Amino acid sequence: MSKSILPPSSVGIIGGGQLGMMTIREAQRMGYRSVVWDPDAHCPASRLADQTLTAPFSSRETAQRFAEGSDVITYEFEHIDAGVVAWLEERKPVIPGSEILSIAQHRREEKQQLARRGFPLVAHALASSQAELWEAVRDIGYPVVAKTATAGYDGKGQTVLSQEEDTRRMARHLGESPQELVIEKFESLLCEVSVIAVRSQKGEVATFPVAENEHRENILHLTMVPARISETIRRQAAELAREIIESFALTGVLCVEMFITREERILVNELAPRPHNSGHFSLDACDVSQFEALVRSICRLPLPVPRLFSPCAMINILGKHMDKLDVDRLMKIPGAKLHLYGKRRIERRRKMGHITVLAPTSHDVERQVAVVEALLGEDRAPG
Ligand code: ADP
Ligand code: MG
Repeated sequence: MSKSILPPSSVGIIGGGQLGMMTIREAQRMGYRSVVWDPDAHCPASRLADQTLTAPFSSRETAQRFAEGSDVITYEFEHIDAGVVAWLEERKPVIPGSEILSIAQHRREEKQQLARRGFPLVAHALASSQAELWEAVRDIGYPVVAKTATAGYDGKGQTVLSQEEDTRRMARHLGESPQELVIEKFESLLCEVSVIAVRSQKGEVATFPVAENEHRENILHLTMVPARISETIRRQAAELAREIIESFALTGVLCVEMFITREERILVNELAPRPHNSGHFSLDACDVSQFEALVRSICRLPLPVPRLFSPCAMINILGKHMDKLDVDRLMKIPGAKLHLYGKRRIERRRKMGHITVLAPTSHDVERQVAVVEALLGEDRAPG
């Protein structure tokens, strides 16, 4: 078994978004140095990193410098060329590696791997031709959601098909620009949850408290912890995440997104082999955050079981909220913690920051969430 990678070793992070930034902040606190590779010189992580390499991910020269500057490498998003990661892997430890990355990059591959291992999934089929699309819709039944097999995030590349006319339109589109689609049953959900699991190289596994997620326009809006579900479902969800990270023998952090159906069945939606937006609460509400857990696992340090200090919620701040953002009033809310990522370019659906609220009971948290939502101009959804 290899030795720990101790501070002040250098942690290399591919991608300099907010996930990279928050990872660096934790690594820095622990005495590590950091190097970030991102095409954008002003990416959030560049504000903190000891070194930022600005170049497209295809640059071999930068890959070389990045490998030289890192004692251990990780990544903060999935849409990187797995070939680059495989190249780096030959030079320095890359954790989690290129194998889980290429699985998580491709919805088909991810579903097939999960199905082969016996994990519960939404009814689905693959379609690359018009005939396959019609057949998938016939087999699954309306409504379905068609997702592009690659490069989807925050609901990008997804279309719900509720009737023949929608399928005809999608079939025409498929005829004009051929691509691989995953067709899924559009489930009626009780709620969505996620579990962040972390595993050490030695095989120790810890899971964070089950988080309940509300999406709006397919983007995460709110995470509530603990999830407001039965103890049985909560235990099953945590167990499922543990089984999945063990089954892939993944070292590092894995987020497992799950659907809870109206019949209280748990279905695995998707995997992210990195810290996840739904785990941000752990920065303010746990004794170890998902980012510290990542640093510990990639540097082969002991992994504690995360403890939740307080019921909490995390509310995302998107570009569309920025002009209404009243920091003075937000900061008056007891237990509110503001995180802004310092992004220069504001887009309506872009994640600009988040707010965590902590309160003694889930009921108090709900009340604080309503106050934050009102300040952001978001309505509380009924029910
Ligand atoms: P992304 O990569 O964009 O996060 P997801 O597959 O997680 O893609 O879909 C985003 C959100 O869309 C989900 O969190 C869920 O709210 C909704 N959604 C996606 N697929 C389904 C489905 N089969 N049934 C019901 N809701 C779905
Ligand atoms: Mg998702």
